[in-house]
Amino acid sequence: MERFQHYIDGAFEDGAGGFDSLDPATGTPWARMPDASAADVDRAVRAAHRAFHDPEWAGLTASARGKLLLRLADLVAEAAPRLAELETRDTGKIIRETSAQIAYVAEYYRYYAGLADKIEGAHLPIDKPDMEVWLRREPIGVVAAIVPWNSQLFLSAVKLGPALAAGCTVVLKASEDGPAPLLAFAQLVHQTGFPPGVVNVLTGGPEAGKSLTTHPLAAHIAFTGGPETARHIVRASAENLARTSLELGGKSPFIVFEDADLDSAANAQVAGIFAATGQSCVAGSRLLVQNGIKDEMLARLKAKAEAVRIGAPGDMATEVGPLCSLRQRARIDDIVAASVAVGARLVTGGQSPEGEGFYYPPTILDCSAVPDAPCVTQELFGPVLSVVGFDTEEDALRIANGTPYGLASGVFTRDLTRAHRMIRGIRAGVVWVNTYRAVSPIAPFGGHGLSGHGREGGLAAALDYTTVKTVWLRTSDAPIPDPFVMR
Ligand code: NAD
Repeated sequence: MERFQHYIDGAFEDGAGGFDSLDPATGTPWARMPDASAADVDRAVRAAHRAFHDPEWAGLTASARGKLLLRLADLVAEAAPRLAELETRDTGKIIRETSAQIAYVAEYYRYYAGLADKIEGAHLPIDKPDMEVWLRREPIGVVAAIVPWNSQLFLSAVKLGPALAAGCTVVLKASEDGPAPLLAFAQLVHQTGFPPGVVNVLTGGPEAGKSLTTHPLAAHIAFTGGPETARHIVRASAENLARTSLELGGKSPFIVFEDADLDSAANAQVAGIFAATGQSCVAGSRLLVQNGIKDEMLARLKAKAEAVRIGAPGDMATEVGPLCSLRQRARIDDIVAASVAVGARLVTGGQSPEGEGFYYPPTILDCSAVPDAPCVTQELFGPVLSVVGFDTEEDALRIANGTPYGLASGVFTRDLTRAHRMIRGIRAGVVWVNTYRAVSPIAPFGGHGLSGHGREGGLAAALDYTTVKTVWLRTSDAPIPDPFVMR
């Protein structure tokens, strides 16, 4: 069994408790993880708070912070193969995906390294004589960052990059499902040479999360996870009145019109729903397809889904691996069964296989007759595609916008003016046209409604970790008149 440790105030340590992490490909324990107690969390937040005010960090120039981030980016790039291996082992995400994604995570740190000394204040042309007024952009304070199990290195980079560029300090809580890659990442933070307490990494479940988000010294909660947990966090933030940025789930529509390039649409749809075994917040989990091409699209998707290579996540040839946990598979099984019971037609998949590991096959359900089936309305976070036919553009928009989510969306059409109408009409934080699932550190990402609020990526994310201080400076040497003398 490998053993992992917390990283608190610049030192590696065992947690108050511990738990075994399971290998999702076999279901057997492979590593011992520390489990943060409320006292561990408290020490980490206090260390981050001390570091925030310590001249060793607070006194650094923005350019010096940028250089540290650049060094971290280089270390992440060098360690990418080992980090990918750990994420694959601990979460079941296939090595093809973890290798590519973690190499790209380094680009996020590079982008924010370059941005550190470009977070500018402003000078105001104020409406009063003899007065200089300007705005300072100052870091908000201690950031409590919480991530779910899928893509933990990526989801933490989009928080740590902008937060550190802005001058904040961070306590990062890895998910209790598959924390190995983040606990290993802490060693890179240490090697980079950040002052102790600037970045702290620990793991644990909901209790550790609660201790972190309700801590009186947490100034900003950067959360990625499900809407139900987000509700707990927002309610709890009534205690410390911390700011929140919430990246939550989705039920993203993938809309295909009759004039689309069907080869591209089918390939993008397969990648959009079956990549990461469907455990992706932007999974294109609802295919809305124009009725004239519905049968053809379904036939193409069925053939592709059945040809997917399912296998060991560590094998480069594998295209779909196991889910992260048994709990996750049981939930998917239940929702698929409930959907079939109300009339959804199973096109392919739909049954947990016998044997070891938490596998679930690529599954397609035609829900045109039951557009309110649970698999159409609920986020499954698994390799399950729900298909609904439509006739007109208006129908497509109505169905696309008919959920409380609003994270991502895709439109496949060759008609330029229609594409523009759809871009305007879809309520989502991201619209991909004739492509799907492209991301970049340069492009903001986030959602509306039950998909959360706030944006990660781009300059906007770094500004989110700052607060504005307005400075008034009187430039006249004339004495301020006695306020009680009538003039
Ligand atoms: P989850 O909400 O159950 O857990 C996420 C994290 O919150 C974990 O680290 C967990 O320990 C912690 N947590 C749980 N209860 C808590 C509490 N009361 N207070 C504070 N922290 C608490 O989510 P999950 O099931 O691990 O992940 C799946 C969800 O994440 C899906 O809804 C998915 O769409 C979403 N997600 C969103 C994005 C995005 O960028 N929008 C990306 C990936 C995943």
